[in-house]
Amino acid sequence: MFCVKCGEEDVETVNGLCLNCFLDGRKLISMPHHVDLMRCANCEEFSVNDQWVRKDLDQAVEDIALTTLSVIPEGKVVSVGVMVEKQEDKTFVVHVQADVDVSGVVATDEDSVIVRLKNTVCKRCSRQLGSYYESIIQVRTGEKTLDDDLRDEVVRAVTASVENQSKTNRSLFISKVQQVPGGVDIYLSSISLGKTLTRELSETYGAEVKESSSLVGVSSDGQEVYRVTFLLRLPMYHVGDIIMFKDRPYELTAVNKNGGKMTDLYDFRETSIKKFELLTVKVICKEKDIKEATVVSRSGDEIQVLHPTSYLTKDVRIPKDCEIGETVKVVEIEEVLLFVP
Ligand SMILES: [Zn+2]
Ligand SMILES: [Zn+2]
Repeated sequence: MFCVKCGEEDVETVNGLCLNCFLDGRKLISMPHHVDLMRCANCEEFSVNDQWVRKDLDQAVEDIALTTLSVIPEGKVVSVGVMVEKQEDKTFVVHVQADVDVSGVVATDEDSVIVRLKNTVCKRCSRQLGSYYESIIQVRTGEKTLDDDLRDEVVRAVTASVENQSKTNRSLFISKVQQVPGGVDIYLSSISLGKTLTRELSETYGAEVKESSSLVGVSSDGQEVYRVTFLLRLPMYHVGDIIMFKDRPYELTAVNKNGGKMTDLYDFRETSIKKFELLTVKVICKEKDIKEATVVSRSGDEIQVLHPTSYLTKDVRIPKDCEIGETVKVVEIEEVLLFVP
């Protein structure tokens, strides 16, 4: 091939020109005069490539600048150098130097763009600030009240789980936690979040769940919009409680979706209990009401402790080879003190 401009023969040509003539004075890259970098005033994340991301301001300025870089169709950018020059508070000039490969020849070109930092509110924050919700978990028990400790524990578990899930899906959030007579209502950003949390909670507590939905309207694109309510009925028992099952006292040590595990307080053996059996147990001492007793002496698998209220010395049976400290947890059943492992 020959160059139509300089006439050189036997050369590789681009659009009829040898590479020298083609590259001569040609702009290889271009950037617009300015670009806006949107930052959410609430969560301080930046919108880059239509995604909200958490990053340093400098990095965000560079990244948004590079999204505006375009290159001639005959070339390919092989590397870029970026220099950010801060102008005023919210204005930056980003200088870009790019190495562009044109048919195997690498040439360098440069350009710059002004980045203007603008505040806005991202969709998630505007929804969260507006208390938007798609589902509600109503936490209740079989009785008229929900224990404060249990309520706080459930709310903490939900908060931790949502925080964790929102690391990979930023549209998930809790919009509101509202105490109501008999329990607490947790308002959530999505139906699937409500589903996941209810499943987690019902597995942790062995709780019953009832789901109901209601049509709340039609979205701008014509889809029917539903809101789902999950009624979570927490059982009266709770891990750590002392329960009575078939006239024997046990410490409930674990609860899962199929039932639970418990330790017999007479012979300290571990057994499991099925979910339907759990429904028949009676809580005789809540975990927080279990008392501590001071150990006076020990002889084999028996210890002598001071009764937590009368301070009389009492014998208490303990498991074989059990390590004990200066105090032990005890529960009194039919005037006998039982050791709680
Ligand atoms: Zn030429
Ligand atoms: Zn935000």
